[in-house]
Amino acid sequence: MNMIFLGPPGAGKGTHAQMLMDTLGIPQISTGDMLRKAIKAGTPVGLEAKTFIDAGALVPDDVVIRLVRERLLQQDCGKGYILDGFPRTVAQAMALGEIAAIDVVLNLDVPDAEIISRLSGRRVCGSCGGTYHVSWLNGSDKCPACGEQLIMRQDDSPETVANRLAVYKEQTAPLIKFYSDLGLLRTVMGEGTPDEIQAKVLSALHMGA
Ligand code: ADP
Ligand code: ZN
Repeated sequence: MNMIFLGPPGAGKGTHAQMLMDTLGIPQISTGDMLRKAIKAGTPVGLEAKTFIDAGALVPDDVVIRLVRERLLQQDCGKGYILDGFPRTVAQAMALGEIAAIDVVLNLDVPDAEIISRLSGRRVCGSCGGTYHVSWLNGSDKCPACGEQLIMRQDDSPETVANRLAVYKEQTAPLIKFYSDLGLLRTVMGEGTPDEIQAKVLSALHMGA
């Protein structure tokens, strides 16, 4: 199954894509993770992407499209994949349409106020990639999974979050209609505990218990 996770920043796309990856045994492809890796490794793509990401803007379409096109050719994508954070513009969706047959688009819907609180309280582990919210950490700044230092993503600062939300509304939200017109969209309210949301995601995919 080839699927897309759509939704505003902080909707929980990454969390639920990862849970589904474990359930379905197909890879999660996060363009945000790929770009952050490229920045860390200092590749040309990373150098180009960094200023856009730090400002909460989108990385140019041609850069991410090239990245995804190469990724989808890899062998582990043969049985399907979960796209997380791509496509984010209509141009990306059209480019994707030429290289892939998408089966379903899961739209995680979360109100603005909730997004702002989630992102400003988000902490990530630089070592294992775990993601947490300060409200679950009891004041600790260490990763519950591996014990390393937790950090705040630079683009989770309040000004950048506001910009990411504006960019989402302007450039990514039109994809809701785009995929709804294609008959592929299923919307799930992304509120509640991760387990509750995951149950709704599975039932939207007709895989519920
Ligand atoms: P979130 O969903 O929380 O915003 P991501 O990790 O998906 O976080 O993305 C972080 C940043 O990476 C985005 O704000 C953007 O700058 C860049 N990015 C990720 N995916 C794309 C994409 N498909 N097109 C353009 N920019 C992207
Ligand atoms: Zn960790």
